[in-house]
Amino acid sequence: EKVFLNGKIISAEDAKISVFDRGFLFGDGIYEVMVQLENGIFYKKAHLDRLQDNLNKIGVSFHVKTIDDALEPLLKASDLTDKSCLIYMQVTRGVAPRKHSFPKGAPATVMMYALPYDLPSINPKNMKAILEPDFRWHRCDIKSISLLGNIMTNESAMESGADEAALVRDGMISEGSHTNIFFVKDGTVITHPANEHILDGISRQIVLKLCKEMNIPTLEKPVPQTEIQNMDEAFFTGTTTQVASIAVLGEHTFYDNDNVGKTTKRLQEAFAKLRTTDTSQ
Ligand code: PLP
Repeated sequence: EKVFLNGKIISAEDAKISVFDRGFLFGDGIYEVMVQLENGIFYKKAHLDRLQDNLNKIGVSFHVKTIDDALEPLLKASDLTDKSCLIYMQVTRGVAPRKHSFPKGAPATVMMYALPYDLPSINPKNMKAILEPDFRWHRCDIKSISLLGNIMTNESAMESGADEAALVRDGMISEGSHTNIFFVKDGTVITHPANEHILDGISRQIVLKLCKEMNIPTLEKPVPQTEIQNMDEAFFTGTTTQVASIAVLGEHTFYDNDNVGKTTKRLQEAFAKLRTTDTSQ
């Protein structure tokens, strides 16, 4: 298994990072996940642009062109050229004596790897999700490698035999532990606005764009937990989740079988169709 680390492609066993790396000490870094499908890296530019925006937001000086340039050689070294795979990238604020204030002049630590990954064109799962308090910080728009809130709420879902946790902040559904959440009510697609309480998913943006193209009305506003029972459909979105129908959310059952709502199904099909073209630029 090969990894890209600070400019070199080496085997995973040889990839070593200092214990003084701020990613290790503080979770001081940004990550990104994208997939390569039949026609190239799915929305590569959108993912790399978001990574750059996030690094700018936290003041790490690094240009994602380095990552873009390294993708082809990494995929080649990993024997994944033109193959379905998942690409993980992480950039931290680098190695420095442990001190909260940003170090001056420490080069960013850049790590990336690719793994074989098969993604069916439509997520076959009808998901069951629990509701969990959203106790994360107030900058969920930053794709921080510090994911304690996300992993703890996800683990609660796993322990209850559910597939995902939908998070509730001040009575409002914000997003999933690693997904965005959408509702459908009377034909309108509703999702939380892209503010500091959610990560603005690339898949979320794609679904909103598809809705516009398909003349499906959209509303970007938070849905109160108490309104779940009045919604007609719900689904999660994410790079590896794609568009996943929700069968059960908290106390409310949308479907007790494999049924998928009409609008969810249309969006799943439209999303799957995007794979038939090159979306990387
Ligand atoms: N929300 C959170 C908290 C996430 O961690 C993710 C993906 O990792 C998403 C939403 C979905 O984002 P994307 O569609 O870009 O994968």
